[in-house]
Amino acid sequence: MRPDSDIVPLDKRTPGVATIEPLIFPQLERLYARRAEKLRALADKDQEPPVLLNGEYFLFLSHLVEGQKGLVEQSPLAEADRASIRALAAGGYRQDELEDTLLGLTVWQSAYAQLVESLKPHLQPDIVADLLAGLETPAVLSAQAALLLRGQYDQVDPGLSVLLWAALSVCWAQAMSQHEDMPGIGRATHCPCCGARPVASLVLGGDREGLRYLQCSLCETRWHRVRGVCVNCHSSADLQYYTLSEKAPDQAEACGECKTYIKVFRLDYDPELEAVSHNLAYQLLDSLVVQEGFTHLGFSPFAFPG
Ligand SMILES: [Zn+2]
Ligand SMILES: [Zn+2]
Repeated sequence: MRPDSDIVPLDKRTPGVATIEPLIFPQLERLYARRAEKLRALADKDQEPPVLLNGEYFLFLSHLVEGQKGLVEQSPLAEADRASIRALAAGGYRQDELEDTLLGLTVWQSAYAQLVESLKPHLQPDIVADLLAGLETPAVLSAQAALLLRGQYDQVDPGLSVLLWAALSVCWAQAMSQHEDMPGIGRATHCPCCGARPVASLVLGGDREGLRYLQCSLCETRWHRVRGVCVNCHSSADLQYYTLSEKAPDQAEACGECKTYIKVFRLDYDPELEAVSHNLAYQLLDSLVVQEGFTHLGFSPFAFPG
């Protein structure tokens, strides 16, 4: 692992004991710093290979992620808010009163307001006005947040969704860090801490050489899943691996049994790779696998469908 990686080295106090941690929590400031750096680099139009999205959008995202980093550093979550968020997640967001609970939980609304504030110098005034309008109607914002948490992305205002997700994410990530281990992690397709979909899976290098973890799109936790087994249906009968070139750090693991796929980012090949920014920038592999009839299990927090 790189010295500035957000994945801390294994605890070596018990030599000789091979440990596979069920969960790896990120060092959030490092994670956001690296992600912002990668997004800034992607904004450079002369990228090789060329990226598919507009450079301005990557620059906007880099400012957004800097804003998340600032929140963690300057306004860390109080324990009471962490507990409230963990309780919400434990209910699977199925509660009838989810919107009301979110309305009463002001910490994510403050995060949203502060993110808008941090983006002000980088956005057109009319876009800022639209984003601020959400704050004038916290009930509407809470209803939209509830839809995001329930995975009903296509029903969320596309102008709000990226920023709203970023606000929820920075709170959820702090709430779930150091979450106690729980049963069922080894078979979880969605995040065992917060229930969100994975961004992708990572094959780690360094002292965790070859281990595979899924990375949560909302709370950034990584959870262990053995390789060679479909992360969705648990079958190993018909797994196929797609890649654009030999030793490419991105692969797609597709399952012929359940017709789903998940990206596999090989940090053992490229320790520099940052999952969220890389996944957003390089989607050619996805389009090829989708053409083969597979459905994506992963979710990109900066590219909402619809
Ligand atoms: Zn999560
Ligand atoms: Zn499967």
